[in-house]
Amino acid sequence: MDIAVIGSNMVDLITYVDQMPKAGETLEAPTFQMGCGGKGANQAIAAARTGASVMMLSKVGDDIFAENTLRNFQQNGINTQYVEKVSGVSSGVAPIFVDSSSQNRILIIKGANAHLKPEDIDRAAAELQQCKLIILQLEIPLETVYYAIDFAHRYGIQVILNPAPASKALSLEYACKCDFFMPNETELEILTGMPVANMDQVQAAAHFLLEKGLKNLIVTLGDKGSVWLYGDQIVKVPPCKVNAIDTSGAGDAFIGCFAQHYIHSGNVLEAMQQASLYAAYSVTGKGTQSSYPDQTQFNLFKQ
Ligand code: ATP
Repeated sequence: MDIAVIGSNMVDLITYVDQMPKAGETLEAPTFQMGCGGKGANQAIAAARTGASVMMLSKVGDDIFAENTLRNFQQNGINTQYVEKVSGVSSGVAPIFVDSSSQNRILIIKGANAHLKPEDIDRAAAELQQCKLIILQLEIPLETVYYAIDFAHRYGIQVILNPAPASKALSLEYACKCDFFMPNETELEILTGMPVANMDQVQAAAHFLLEKGLKNLIVTLGDKGSVWLYGDQIVKVPPCKVNAIDTSGAGDAFIGCFAQHYIHSGNVLEAMQQASLYAAYSVTGKGTQSSYPDQTQFNLFKQ
């Protein structure tokens, strides 16, 4: 395996509404759609669709969603040996309500994702040790994230930490042990408590973290592109101009694609440029994973 993603999976339950019901009221909504999501799963799918061999360490619930999630990983060629069922617990689900002005209201129920524990890393140790890179996010318990970072350190495996959703409880000491720390603007703002309204402010917040000892900080900036900061260096990657329809999951597309290109080329800038194109493609379609291109679609897009 090239890459192990140790993280979440969620089932997106998307209801498109004309109007939100008030307390005690029942309303009819025009359409409903189910999709596979969760930051860990999205990043694994993006890495696999761009050509990486990927194993997933994750938990599903004791319900009808579990089979769907497993099938989705398998159809994308992802190794699911360590995607395990937790009995008596629901899968992670995200009921999403989208109104007529495309505003989202999202609830996250972590369900089985809260049961991914350090012991699970020990059980997968033999396979994990063979990986070149581990990708982590914060939709699983922090103790598991820290344990994975220490594990990777022990065996010389590179780590990308995507601090999402942002948690002030995240230890910067652990963040500094990672090879790449990849927040978006909002996460950078929450983690530093500093404003990020313009590029100067983003750089100031980034330097605050670099001074704590971070190795490589890559900040994704939505339609403003992305920026890589290390030591006193700063490298900006402009966005690819596209007609954006739905930007959800763009950050995960960026990270999965970056990981795949980075482990094969060892070139950070090149990996960011590819990731920027891949994420741009993803914002031209609806949904998260459903908008991630496979290698053929991506190659056509780049021509
Ligand atoms: P999510 O949490 O939904 O996964 P995010 O907020 O973490 O997304 P962003 O920073 O919005 O991620 O976007 C990630 C990358 O996707 C950007 O760095 C950029 O390369 C690309 N991107 C996002 N929005 C656009 C856009 N409108 N046009 C072109 N590229 C975009």
